[in-house]
Amino acid sequence: MTFESLGLHPSLLAALTESGYTAPTAVQAQAIPAAIEGRDLLVSSQTGSGKTAAFMLPSLHKLASSEQSAAGKTANQEMQAARARGDRPRFKAAQPKMLVLTPTRELALQVTTNTDKYSTGIRRIKAVSILGGMPYPKQMQLLAKNPEILVATPGRLIDHMDSGKIDFSQLEILVLDEADRMLDMGFIDDIEKIVEATPEGRQTMLFSATLDGVVGNMARRITKNPLIIQI
Ligand code: AMP
Repeated sequence: MTFESLGLHPSLLAALTESGYTAPTAVQAQAIPAAIEGRDLLVSSQTGSGKTAAFMLPSLHKLASSEQSAAGKTANQEMQAARARGDRPRFKAAQPKMLVLTPTRELALQVTTNTDKYSTGIRRIKAVSILGGMPYPKQMQLLAKNPEILVATPGRLIDHMDSGKIDFSQLEILVLDEADRMLDMGFIDDIEKIVEATPEGRQTMLFSATLDGVVGNMARRITKNPLIIQI
């Protein structure tokens, strides 16, 4: 099995070669083709299995292959026009295409670092982390760039949603990474609220050490006809 045979975008293949990845891991081999087709995924796998690339590579492939949204273009054009007039542009809510929820700051930063590594050849795709403990002005600056991908811990993301800084109407892909840990940490209400704010037609991928019990119930509620992968 090779990354080429999974049909990934050439820029991603170049980045993988550069990163020294020679072949997909087991979870990547199963997840990537199904995710490219648009399937929802429920994946039980551990850290170290290559799960980050399993959700990020097909997502980057899809984002790189699709046109920039009309809404995104309009927001950027308006900001540029305001600047050209010498006006201070009004803050427009960020309209991400992809959201990754993680239980901790550390995991969010790892996901963002890996995303930057994989997307290095795709200039218009940017990933930004929205984390508890990071100063708000810095986060506002990051959101003002209207990044395609947000990687966030649930609590801080809700703060920005409540103050109108994020609009999920253009969201295409939602990932819950280490979902069991997020529930253990008491994030269930936040997760429900975030999922409710995203479009019904989104693609959802959930990764968890276990798919039993509470996490299994939530997983089934927020996905449609998911492919279940147990590694
Ligand atoms: P993860 O399970 O996503 O935390 O990934 C564990 C580690 O494996 C990370 O350092 C990745 O950069 C690395 N990795 C992921 N996929 C591959 C692959 N196909 N070949 C080599 N290393 C990989």
